[in-house]
Amino acid sequence: MHALFQNYPRLKDRLDHIPLADLPTPIEKLDRLGRELGLSSLYVKRDDLTSEAYGGNKVRKLEFVFGDALARGAREVLTFGYAGSNHGLATAIYARKVGLTSISMLLPQPNAHYVRRNLLMSYHAEAELHQHRTFGLLKVATAYQMIRHKVITGKFPQMIPPGGSSPLGAIGFVNAALELKQQVDAGIVPEPDYIYVALGSMGTAVGLILGALAGRLKSRVIPVRVGPEAFANARGMVKLFHDTNNLLSSLDESFPKCRLSESDTGIRQSFFGKEYALFTEEGANAVKRMIDLEGIKLDGTYTGKTLAALIADSKEGRLKDKTVLFWNTYNSRDFSKPIAPIDYRSLPTCFHRYFEEEVQPLDRLFTQR
Ligand SMILES: *Cc1c(COP(=O)(O)O)cnc(C)c1O
Repeated sequence: MHALFQNYPRLKDRLDHIPLADLPTPIEKLDRLGRELGLSSLYVKRDDLTSEAYGGNKVRKLEFVFGDALARGAREVLTFGYAGSNHGLATAIYARKVGLTSISMLLPQPNAHYVRRNLLMSYHAEAELHQHRTFGLLKVATAYQMIRHKVITGKFPQMIPPGGSSPLGAIGFVNAALELKQQVDAGIVPEPDYIYVALGSMGTAVGLILGALAGRLKSRVIPVRVGPEAFANARGMVKLFHDTNNLLSSLDESFPKCRLSESDTGIRQSFFGKEYALFTEEGANAVKRMIDLEGIKLDGTYTGKTLAALIADSKEGRLKDKTVLFWNTYNSRDFSKPIAPIDYRSLPTCFHRYFEEEVQPLDRLFTQR
């Protein structure tokens, strides 16, 4: 049973939830990378293995987001992301599993091999895919699609915010922090001093911070900003934190009221680079080190930039004698087989360019295709 429900049994009946993830995810010691960085207590939380079908951090959120959508009688879900969105793909894969149709409203992004893979796999999962050039156009197109689907099915699709980062989505990571607490109590890992995690649409980091406070972990979450400031900022973190906290306390008054102030979010700003999903040199090197030393696959958009922050901090001596946990939010399941027979020309024309144009130069450093 989920750590959240073990700690707060009343929530089990009051929160709609559908099990999708294999929990708890393992924690492993990173001996070789740790040795290179001079860290004797470096660990990874293997959220890349959250599920057989498709791992990564989005599965934990979708358990609560879909639980709610199904309880409301939704038949379709509509969500947002960039062309290579892991969230869009996870939504497509798990929506189909629970009998929902998914619609992805996407924005353009720098090209990479994973963009091609995710688009093909979303197509395989029968997602309806749209792309528009700007946020403004995407909003208009979304209104149109909402109405079009209402006309066809008689019901508006249930909207899921970008990255699944509603309070319900963040609850998936309140549970994750309480799960970590259980692993600490069981002696699987020493209590981390620091937890490094990517900050995109914020649900992951915010849920972890709230869960760590509720579970009285002394661990400090270090959110490394990898998404545009419009989606990843201290104000947004504080709002999502309190909305999530209020929701949980309103459903179970034994859930503690916690606090987070803007000056206390600890967002790391300097690893983002120039643009969302445009890889950085340090990020690409971090990806390469992790695969070479530990055999764990990371990505250039999220986890590489996050590990780059950890590496930089270790070089500055800020992590000396500390227990450090790297939260791996990237999917590591291979789906090259199901996508192999798919011709990209089956996708809507607006996506063909990702297959016809070169990938960004730093993507060539990566071994995975
Ligand atoms: C979405 C995503 C993140 C960011 O998580 P948020 O909850 O959106 O902040 C991090 N890593 C990977 C691989 C992701 O797909």
